[in-house]
Amino acid sequence: MSTFTASIPTTAEIAETVRKSLHSIGVDPQLLDGSRETKSPITGEVIAHTKFHTDDEIESAVAQATETFKTWRTVPAPVRGALVKRWGQLLTDHKEDIATLVTAEVGKIHSEALGEVQEMIDIVDLAVGQSRQLYGKTMPSERPGHRLAETWHPLGVVGIISAFNFPVAVFAWNTALALVAGDTVVWKPADATRLSALAVDTLLARAAKDVGAPDGIHHLLLTDRTGGQKLVEDPRIALVSATGSVRMGQEIAPVIAKRFGRALLELGGNNGAIVAPSADLDLALRGIVFAAAGTAGQRCTSLRRLIVHSSIADTLVSRIVDAYRTLNIGSPTHEETLVGPLINANSFKAQQGALNQAKEEGGKIVYGGERVLADDQPEAYYVQPAVVRMPSQSAVVHDETFAPILYVMTYDTLDEAIEIHNSVPQGLSSAIFTQDNTEAERFLSASGSDCGIANVNIGTSGAEIGGAFGGEKETGGGRESGSDSWKVYMRQATNTINFSGKLPLAQGVKFL
Ligand code: NAD
Repeated sequence: MSTFTASIPTTAEIAETVRKSLHSIGVDPQLLDGSRETKSPITGEVIAHTKFHTDDEIESAVAQATETFKTWRTVPAPVRGALVKRWGQLLTDHKEDIATLVTAEVGKIHSEALGEVQEMIDIVDLAVGQSRQLYGKTMPSERPGHRLAETWHPLGVVGIISAFNFPVAVFAWNTALALVAGDTVVWKPADATRLSALAVDTLLARAAKDVGAPDGIHHLLLTDRTGGQKLVEDPRIALVSATGSVRMGQEIAPVIAKRFGRALLELGGNNGAIVAPSADLDLALRGIVFAAAGTAGQRCTSLRRLIVHSSIADTLVSRIVDAYRTLNIGSPTHEETLVGPLINANSFKAQQGALNQAKEEGGKIVYGGERVLADDQPEAYYVQPAVVRMPSQSAVVHDETFAPILYVMTYDTLDEAIEIHNSVPQGLSSAIFTQDNTEAERFLSASGSDCGIANVNIGTSGAEIGGAFGGEKETGGGRESGSDSWKVYMRQATNTINFSGKLPLAQGVKFL
């Protein structure tokens, strides 16, 4: 059994810290006086209310974003960068306040909540630099006296739909780059996280005012999925950047495709790590436990499948179980807590359903899976992270269950390990723990991991913003954050400039 941290705060105490943070950030009190409840997973009870936008208000937000785009696209990109830079300063000033809201709404431990806000600040830094680097190429023309070039222009209105588990970072990944690119944004956050959304949107509004940016470049929609559906259907939304489950992606992708809109899909993962016999097991253990049990298994990049060489499987599993026994489970507001609550009862049901299915399919739960602290907190769902030994192929390991379950399978050859690894429909993050360079390179090669993220000697979760983030197959194919992800927020034009005074046709075609 894990040791539990000190008592859970009362709902009134959580509500009070939330109220103070919202006040310190300057959120408009009128937006906190409405019909929609926000519950904290820490106690499972209501901590605040928010307004709910009407259809007319949503329409007006999209119309204003569409109109403002016409002005914003003409502002020089480095000047647009100045807005994002100011936002980053305000996020830094209010880092603690925002992290407090993330902890209260999502149940993330404070250190991870602070990390999420830091991720916002990091992407802002990247975007400010990017505002002077929206490079296009110049290519040699086949015709004398001609020049070929590409230019990148603002795209339009970006509709952002985000998931509960990264309530603010995903908004910043999209918004920092979209604003620098010259786009305007309309954001529909997850239903569970409207308070942190209000906080970071309020700071963006203040930044816009401080630098004199036009009104209407960003809009927060306090709505539910019906509001999200409006963005998906609306031809004025040039790009829909949607983060969430594969189910959500399957619903929205055909609708966007039908109107030839652009979609950036960041959907579910089912991430695996291979542990080779040469692995440094101390290092691997830390990487595995953080990725599998951290954030209570509620990251898109959480480690869900461990594929271990049969010669070391028993040793490694027993060390993982020993490590799991030391994890403090409890209120994320306490410093010593490492595993906070699940978001709600549905997550708990999904976790229990997956564990039952695993047992039916020949799995053996070697640790965890039980609900804890239920007597004191009937509406909150704290669980022991589970470790389950599984046969190498079973149906349940093909599903993403958004809770802390680590399925352990064994292999004998690296080819077999990679085949097991790639056999799931999702393709987000992956890792190999090995000290054998040949194995590492094979895993990273074209015939290795089929994921958008492939790591060596580091877990599947906790990406830095400098690289492009996203995954293949059912994860949706989108790329966000660093590298050249900025291009998805812009449209590309190819220019041919003729300074020859003649009109030679390409490919030697003769006409007139
Ligand atoms: P979810 O799919 O239930 O909801 C995500 C968002 O989509 C919410 O804002 C929701 O209201 C909205 N939505 C749902 N159906 C919609 C529809 N038909 N039209 C328009 N909007 C709709 O996901 P969740 O439970 O909030 O988050 C967990 C999931 O998100 C997991 O599957 C996780 O892997 C995934 N996720 C992926 C990434 C990534 O970058 N790949 C990051 C975070 C979370």
